[in-house]
Amino acid sequence: MPRTTCVVAGGGPAGMVLGLLLARAGVAVTVLEKHDDFLRDFRGDTVHASTIRLLDELGLGPAFRALPQSRLQNLELPQPDGLAVTLGDFRRLPPPYDHVAMVPQWDLLTLLADAARAEPSFALRMSTAAVDLLREGGRVTGVRTRTRDGVEEDLHADLVVAADGRSSVLRSAAGLVPHAYRVPFDTWWFRLPRWESEREQAALVPRIAGAEILLSFPRTDYFQVAYVNRKGMDARLRAEGVERFRERVARLRPDFADRLDALTSTDDLHWLDVRLDRLPRWHVDGLLLIGDAAHAMSPAGGVGINLAVQDAVAAATLLAAPLRAGTPTARDLGRVRRRRLLPTVVIQLAQRVLHRLVFVPALAGRQPRAVRLVAAVARRVPAVTRVPAQLIAFGPRPEHAPAFARRPAPADR
Ligand SMILES: Cc1cc2nc3c(=O)[nH]c(=O)nc-3n(C[C@H](O)[C@H](O)[C@H](O)COP(=O)(O)OP(=O)(O)OC[C@H]3O[C@@H](n4cnc5c(N)ncnc54)[C@H](O)[C@@H]3O)c2cc1C
Repeated sequence: MPRTTCVVAGGGPAGMVLGLLLARAGVAVTVLEKHDDFLRDFRGDTVHASTIRLLDELGLGPAFRALPQSRLQNLELPQPDGLAVTLGDFRRLPPPYDHVAMVPQWDLLTLLADAARAEPSFALRMSTAAVDLLREGGRVTGVRTRTRDGVEEDLHADLVVAADGRSSVLRSAAGLVPHAYRVPFDTWWFRLPRWESEREQAALVPRIAGAEILLSFPRTDYFQVAYVNRKGMDARLRAEGVERFRERVARLRPDFADRLDALTSTDDLHWLDVRLDRLPRWHVDGLLLIGDAAHAMSPAGGVGINLAVQDAVAAATLLAAPLRAGTPTARDLGRVRRRRLLPTVVIQLAQRVLHRLVFVPALAGRQPRAVRLVAAVARRVPAVTRVPAQLIAFGPRPEHAPAFARRPAPADR
């Protein structure tokens, strides 16, 4: 009967970090990832200071910094007078944590997977989905797995962790339903070329005009662009065709008009059905849910990856010892939610306030008063721009790597 100590469903940021940390604690852990590889575009590529610091503590800092990446240093709002006002300034945070790194998520996941494979108690099964929960006497005792070829196998474990994202199959199998908050918008992601002369730009630039919003993120050799509009617009945008979409973008960013032929069809638009939800309970006996499976985040602030990683660190810190000693109790599992609830609630609340004060008026064609107010304050007292930067970069209650997972970086050995 195949058996491990902990089986983690999902090889995203939460699942890979948990797998790595538990393996470094000597716990036998198997991570299941339903895809063949980590290569999926627009999964979210922002790596915040809390995660970069964690990677340093794990001894992975140099390898992380060697990955192709660009740096986001501030959040700028263009003004009618042509000058931009800085709303959030990461450069005011102490280095080396004074920026947001924009790193393809597949590179980050590959780095974590490689580090985890160095631990003898770690196993990663790609192309293998968790399709159902196994139960004995009401307790979850493992998962049914299915490979891409359709081969099914039961994998028994002392603990199952669902890190299978916002449409979690295991969450449904456990009968858990998240509370969903109303979100007024969706986003459509696409890429545009970034000219050589623009390589110095390191700011996130939002534009609000009409009833539409556009945000551009500088990447190594392209701009990652998010077009924001009301929910329910996807079919209409696609029916209107690419030429009409190009016009929308050019109206928001006239400086992008010279490169819109890079958008060849509406298939180049990656629709994100934005959700914001949270489970009232993150565990049942034998099963814990973390990351997006426990709480899907709005893209506002780009915090989803970092919060998922923090959940994983908390879970490993609290559960490594109970897993080594035997089966974690429901009380052990409940401690993970208790530790991560405050940061999750605070960030989701901030996102809901942002939706209401910025996105709702902007998408109704009104200039958001809150933005004008913040811009006026930031112009007079630039030091306040550290506050949003600190909140985004570290969030409330950032986690540190537990002692058992820390390693010196190769250069320090
Ligand atoms: C288009 C888009 C853009 C985003 N942009 C940002 C951003 O810029 N910054 C940011 O911080 N966040 C962003 N997010 C959110 C961010 O990607 C998530 O919050 C974060 O990845 C959550 O991590 P996770 O590990 O909990 O879940 P996920 O990243 O969703 O990982 C879940 C993993 O589980 C696998 N899986 C799913 N079901 C199963 C199963 N049954 N069995 C086995 N494996 C399974 C999936 O293939 C996936 O690899 C974005 C999300 C999307 C969709």
